[in-house]
Amino acid sequence: MRRLTLAWTLSALTLASLAQAGDAHPPGYGQGLAERIPSLAPEIQAFLPEARRIAAESIILDTHVDVPYRLERGWVDVSEATEGGDFDYPRAVAGGLDAPFMSIYIPADVDAQDQGSVLADRLIDSVEALVAADPDKFALAKSPGELVANFHAGKISLPMGMENAGPIRSVEEVAHWRERGIRYASLAHSRSNALSDSSYDINERWDGLSPLGKSLVPALNDAGIMLDLSHVSDKAAYQILELSAVPVIASHSSARHFIPGFLRNPDDDLLRAIGEKGGVIMVNIGSSFLSQASRRSSEQATQAFQAYLRESGEARDSQAAKAWRAAYAEENPYLRATLEHVLDHVDYLAGIAGIDAVGIGTDFDGVGDTLPIGMRDVASYPHLIAGLLSRGYSEGEIKGILSGNLLRVWRVVDAYPRGKGRS
Ligand SMILES: [Zn+2]
Repeated sequence: MRRLTLAWTLSALTLASLAQAGDAHPPGYGQGLAERIPSLAPEIQAFLPEARRIAAESIILDTHVDVPYRLERGWVDVSEATEGGDFDYPRAVAGGLDAPFMSIYIPADVDAQDQGSVLADRLIDSVEALVAADPDKFALAKSPGELVANFHAGKISLPMGMENAGPIRSVEEVAHWRERGIRYASLAHSRSNALSDSSYDINERWDGLSPLGKSLVPALNDAGIMLDLSHVSDKAAYQILELSAVPVIASHSSARHFIPGFLRNPDDDLLRAIGEKGGVIMVNIGSSFLSQASRRSSEQATQAFQAYLRESGEARDSQAAKAWRAAYAEENPYLRATLEHVLDHVDYLAGIAGIDAVGIGTDFDGVGDTLPIGMRDVASYPHLIAGLLSRGYSEGEIKGILSGNLLRVWRVVDAYPRGKGRS
């Protein structure tokens, strides 16, 4: 119990940066592994056998898994069971996961120091290294066709998306990232950058997209790279929707409706616009993306800790500060979201944008110890499927959520350059 409390405390305090940076990939991920035991309502549990069958038979595609940055912090062999983290091969197999998009995540600081392309190339190298080390388990997937072929060969695909396209400094540089396997790109992360304003940054430097950002939208279309609206400001999102010739995605976002004022999740109008353009919103399952109470809980922990640091003069990582955090967490347990919240978001997104506009972008390995009860790692997809069955979704609809909807968008985007007579 003590260990759990500490685990949450550490993550809660990394949420200090999250309060501003949101899903800014805190250290301390996976420290709540003792809580991996699922806690599912009986009415959901009843659907588990059917859910496991569907998980085994279907392609499960998740557009946002932060394995590369986890490996950047400290290499572990994810082809075997790992102690920490939310992803490894055995758990992915247990969960029926077939295609986790590897997030090539460039922190805003690294981008601002013009070091983004070095980091992006290194993160892509690490994904390639995973595949090279275990070609029987993992495979790259640079097209929907390759992904489907990998599924039939019993391999887990590792397609890649770039979270913060700051490293792309010109239209000409798009070709390099296409070549390296990037198949979606969000233009910014936690701060406005050279391309776009960020939903986390009150400084709206460009009133949406910069001139370079505007020129990159058609360039990314022409390269067959999906545009990702997660992280950019609302204005930038609408400008991308306007400029893009093809449907777009939100790779790891949920519905703002449940957390009013949380700009990182799209509001109803934006969700509708994404759906009307044929795009997909991939649900982020970090508790702070799902539940107002969870978000408030972490914000309060952050504010209290900052006040403590100011008053005590202690260093952030001092022993006294650690003890303070432990005591705080003991008295103020983190209000974790649950699988039910995830299902509420799916229901809501389907209601606003349409059932064909919903998918999964969990943010596993990217949201620290804030994952909801019932969805604690990549072994959990059958829980989600059981939950969807319990809410009356048909198997066809569920398969759309699991991969069909995203693959539909990717096929359109992938074919677009050929349709224009380019390749
Ligand atoms: Zn993110």
